[in-house]
Amino acid sequence: AARLKEGLTKSRNQMAKSLAAVFGGGQIDEDLYEELETVLLTSDMGIEATEKLMAQVRDRVSLSGLKDGAELRQALKDAVCDLLRPLEQPLRIPEGQGPFVIMMAGINGAGKTTSIGKLAKYFQAQGKTVLLAAGDTFRAAAREQLQEWGARNGVTVISQASADSAAVCFDALEAAKARKIDVVLADTAGRLPTQLHLMEEIKKVKRVLQKSIPDAPHEVMVVLDANIGQNAVNQVAAFDSALGVTGLVVTKLDGTAKGGVLAALAERGIPVRYIGVGEKIDDLRPFDTEAFVEALFG
Ligand code: GDP
Repeated sequence: AARLKEGLTKSRNQMAKSLAAVFGGGQIDEDLYEELETVLLTSDMGIEATEKLMAQVRDRVSLSGLKDGAELRQALKDAVCDLLRPLEQPLRIPEGQGPFVIMMAGINGAGKTTSIGKLAKYFQAQGKTVLLAAGDTFRAAAREQLQEWGARNGVTVISQASADSAAVCFDALEAAKARKIDVVLADTAGRLPTQLHLMEEIKKVKRVLQKSIPDAPHEVMVVLDANIGQNAVNQVAAFDSALGVTGLVVTKLDGTAKGGVLAALAERGIPVRYIGVGEKIDDLRPFDTEAFVEALFG
């Protein structure tokens, strides 16, 4: 929790400081509610989540007769926890049922490749065997980067310079079955935000995975950069309508990102499996509501 707090320092500072200013004054009145609403909106929570939280805070004030800023702060904290808790659904990998296939998607720069490297180590630490599929065949750099992460973890990377994404991922699944691998992390080509409509190619990857393992992918995980704020919601929607997204990784929560984006994401109801809190291999955490909100409020 201490490291998460450290990782979330900047998000925390931003929101915690603004909240401290709001709750520092004594009396609960309309001015205070307005200031609070502004803080939530500027923390990337989005309009829907902000309205929901404001309504809950007002309810708690009138029902429990809250009087001062400190009590109001606690009421908000509880309301944010309630809002985010449904996102906390840890990824469980069943034992002995063949390779568990995780298909990774996201726009360029979101932290997809880095997250795959971190996850490879994370799953290995749980005693699982891991194989990586270098399905981002458009960018040579992505393939090389994945190979580096693989080498660092001592994990096999299936990669082919000239093949298309679907072919590489298919080969990876065949190799995983033959080697009785527990978890396959399949990278896919990143896209630009303006290319979000180019979903046919990634849909094809999904179809081809199913030719090797009929119920694959077992998890379609979208990687999001927390810095993009409200756009995260649109990205998830675009990937979800093409692929059916089952989990999210929200990266760069150690930076200047405003952690409130998770509240906006809560509206879509897709679990946040992991959060990224740094560039290093250990800077990945399963999403934990209490720890996250604690860090956010400071
Ligand atoms: P991809 O294009 O989606 O594969 O993105 P990369 O994995 O190459 O990451 C893009 C940049 O973001 C790299 O410089 C990473 O080191 C950095 N990055 C990824 N995750 C995190 C994170 O959780 N925190 C920070 N601070 N940087 C990150």
